[in-house]
Amino acid sequence: METLLRLPSPEIYAKAAALYRAGELVAFPTETVYGLGANALDAEAVGRIFAAKGRPNDNPLIVHIAHRDQLDPLVRLPALATALMDAFWPGPLTLIMPRTDLVPDAVTAGLDTVAVRMPSHPIARAMLEACRLPIAAPSANRSGRPSPTTAAHVLEDMNGLIPLIIDGGPCEVGLESTVLDITQERPCILRPGGVTREMLEAVIGPVEVAGSVLRPLREGEVARSPGMRYRHYAPKGEITLVRGGEADVIRALRLCWEAAEAAGENSCVLCFEEHAAALAGVRCHSLGTLSQPESIANRLFDVLRQLDTEGMTRVYSEVMPADGIGLAVMNRLGRAAAFRTVEAADVIARRGAAPV
Ligand code: AMP
Ligand code: MG
Repeated sequence: METLLRLPSPEIYAKAAALYRAGELVAFPTETVYGLGANALDAEAVGRIFAAKGRPNDNPLIVHIAHRDQLDPLVRLPALATALMDAFWPGPLTLIMPRTDLVPDAVTAGLDTVAVRMPSHPIARAMLEACRLPIAAPSANRSGRPSPTTAAHVLEDMNGLIPLIIDGGPCEVGLESTVLDITQERPCILRPGGVTREMLEAVIGPVEVAGSVLRPLREGEVARSPGMRYRHYAPKGEITLVRGGEADVIRALRLCWEAAEAAGENSCVLCFEEHAAALAGVRCHSLGTLSQPESIANRLFDVLRQLDTEGMTRVYSEVMPADGIGLAVMNRLGRAAAFRTVEAADVIARRGAAPV
């Protein structure tokens, strides 16, 4: 199949609508990452998403809508929903709500809940308006790859597999939406994203964070979000997170990189802009500046994809505080590293007085 990459226009929206109605897939930009969409009410079309992504079919999808009146046929609204929608829709917040029978099992992986979001990106909105359908859309990457934040990333993963990609340039947030479960007594963040815990709590009071956001699932632990079971955001090389005091971390990153290079690995360090000068001579990728944490979220997936392009086999990364948008960054970085973490002080003690 030929994959068309096209800039947005009324004609392209009409083409997207026709493709959706014919049960085909269209990739489109949102403010979070690029989505791979299908008509959410067409189980066969939804099946094509799983095939194109190589996604396990027990991992449910998010349904995207343009208007609130599209919700009524899909969900039974929990009490908290209205306040959350008023505050954060359109935007990067996905709500898990009890579903109706209209939603195919293929979308929800058979769960009795469904994830719904109203994106704010003008291209996503115009496309949803044009097709007047609820669109089921996961991130438009092959399963296990970092989510795409540019149309070029989508093409990298989906060329030949889907008929159309709408090119809307780089995504603003750069990380997937916050997934909030509001079906239980206490609202719970299943996946942190652009709408932070602090922002949610300012509107609805205390919000829990699922345990597996910052650590691997424990043996026998049931994932509240099926996506948590899978290794995600995974570059081909092995990433290790290095934590500790600032000076120790910089020293340990250099020691780790030197040891990896000496062992014949193709290796680099992921560091914050603030520490680039102190790491002179070390092969580094900047994660952005700590003074603008949103910029770190924004470029993370692009950096992770570059590691593969450069054939990196060993990568050592700094960490940031897991609050605000930092929770989402550390969730994605942690999962990319399979949560492999070392203490900087231990690295230094083991390697003794190695040159700094
Ligand atoms: P993606 O589509 O790649 O952005 O991933 C969607 C995320 O939302 C995955 O982590 C899913 O497991 C999660 N999700 C979707 N629907 C539900 C649901 N009904 N209950 C819990 N998590 C869900
Ligand atoms: Mg995804």
